[in-house]
Amino acid sequence: MPAKSIAIVAGGAGFLGSLVCERLLGEGRSVVCLDNLLTGRVANIAHMTGNPDFRFIEGDVRSALPDGPADEIWNLACPASPPQYQADPIGTMLINVVGMQAVLEKARVTGARVFQASTSEVYGDPEVHPQIESYRGAVSTIGPRACYDEGKRAAETLCFDYARMHGVSIKVARIFNTYGPCMDPMDGRVVSNFVVNALRGLPLQLYGDGVQTRSFCYRDDLVEGFFRLMRSPAEVTGPINLGNPGEFTIRELGELVLSMTGSKSVFVNKPMPVDDPKMRQPDISLARELLGWEPKISLREGLSRTIEHFIERLAA
Ligand code: NAD
Ligand code: UDP
Repeated sequence: MPAKSIAIVAGGAGFLGSLVCERLLGEGRSVVCLDNLLTGRVANIAHMTGNPDFRFIEGDVRSALPDGPADEIWNLACPASPPQYQADPIGTMLINVVGMQAVLEKARVTGARVFQASTSEVYGDPEVHPQIESYRGAVSTIGPRACYDEGKRAAETLCFDYARMHGVSIKVARIFNTYGPCMDPMDGRVVSNFVVNALRGLPLQLYGDGVQTRSFCYRDDLVEGFFRLMRSPAEVTGPINLGNPGEFTIRELGELVLSMTGSKSVFVNKPMPVDDPKMRQPDISLARELLGWEPKISLREGLSRTIEHFIERLAA
């Protein structure tokens, strides 16, 4: 019998990484989930730990990649929420750079294909709208978001240099804001903050006046895009935008959450964080053309599933 294909998922106990692990197991692969539980949770992977094809290693991507063969390495190891990645900015930059290099070295030695979870943050506070992959971005190198934005930019650079220098097969996805069930309620990102506070009758905090925009992608749509990219021909390296082009102001998001939860919560205004992008919307023409991918789940439908999940979670 041929050996099972082995996939390492760094950051596999996180919101998105745990979904990647689930789907890989469903495909019949052997999965090694490597996570230091910085922002991930054992609860996200508890349902997989009894599976003989699933192994969890609690460790840092920078130093704890397992020995032995690997066919795929999925690199999702990095805190994604602004308060979390800004809590240890030096660590965030180094996770992205040193962690990425460790993944690429492992791939160089084993011949594994690498998936890199890059981000729309590489576009910074964009002057081009919607954002297309050829736009090079407007990122502050010195602001409080730079540890994440510049870390992810450097990680992309490492991917392309390892591909050119060592022939490593790379797949770079630029992910736009993604939400859904299993987000950590205390994660600090806008969708979980708004849903949790609306359900608890607490005020929704609008940073700035709430006219900044974001485009919200439901998690299952995104993960479908991940797998289409990872399984695409080798010449499709990315970077490729994955996100939902539906664009909403943050106030509109809050109003939708209030109406869908029937909450009596009110908005309160808070200062706009430094360097917070004023608008963000993916141009997904490339993903449509090369991967035949586009999101299917509307914000209303995705929020309804997310609200249902948080109602159960908060009651538990
Ligand atoms: P998350 O915080 O839930 O997941 C990140 C995971 O990485 C966590 O389980 C965390 O414990 C783990 N981790 C962090 N540092 C690590 C380290 N040094 N070694 C090993 N594990 C480590 O966030 P998420 O939303 O699931 O995001 C996953 C990836 O996708 C991240 O790389 C993020 O930058 C990227 N991304 C996410 C979004 C989004 O909207 N969710 C948008 C753009 C990019
Ligand atoms: N935001 C907000 N209230 C919150 C959390 C976030 O108004 O409780 C705003 C934030 O300033 C940003 C947008 O919502 O303009 C999206 O924030 P998030 O942290 O989810 O993601 P990112 O800024 O990384 O896109």
